[in-house]
Amino acid sequence: MTRVGIGYDVHALVAGRKLVLGGVEIPHSTGLDGHSDADALMHAICDAVLGALGEADIGTFFPNTDPRWRGVPSKIFLQEAARQVASRSGRIINIDATVMAQQPKIAPHIAAMKERIAAALQIDARCVGIKATTNEGLGFIGREEGIAAMAVAGVELPDLYGQS
Ligand code: MG
Repeated sequence: MTRVGIGYDVHALVAGRKLVLGGVEIPHSTGLDGHSDADALMHAICDAVLGALGEADIGTFFPNTDPRWRGVPSKIFLQEAARQVASRSGRIINIDATVMAQQPKIAPHIAAMKERIAAALQIDARCVGIKATTNEGLGFIGREEGIAAMAVAGVELPDLYGQS
């Protein structure tokens, strides 16, 4: 059976932090604040994959109170989500995501992001869609106070529950 999941994440932009999105470090005057590397795009994708399994969110697997996850690259979260799929004999069909950022320009980095995300999930990069939009200057995203990301994931699972 085919399952879908949705994920959303947001992190604040602050001075003195690296900006990492989709596993790519993007030169910018501010970066995303958080316990890990605060990669909002990878976090949203992680929640989408876990959601397709009916699982809880990334924080359940990697509590932000646990010092082991301080500053870690978020690809380890995606690797865990992929493990959860594999442990159910499932397969990630595709990922689609949108980054909402007023600045900086995301488009030049999308190809590299697709490669990093696909590598972490062990799927083909052509199965990963990433788009980016500004927020037309509106709200906290428009004021460059934070960056948000949303994602959906398609996951093929064996017919575990008698559905077809
Ligand atoms: Mg997050």
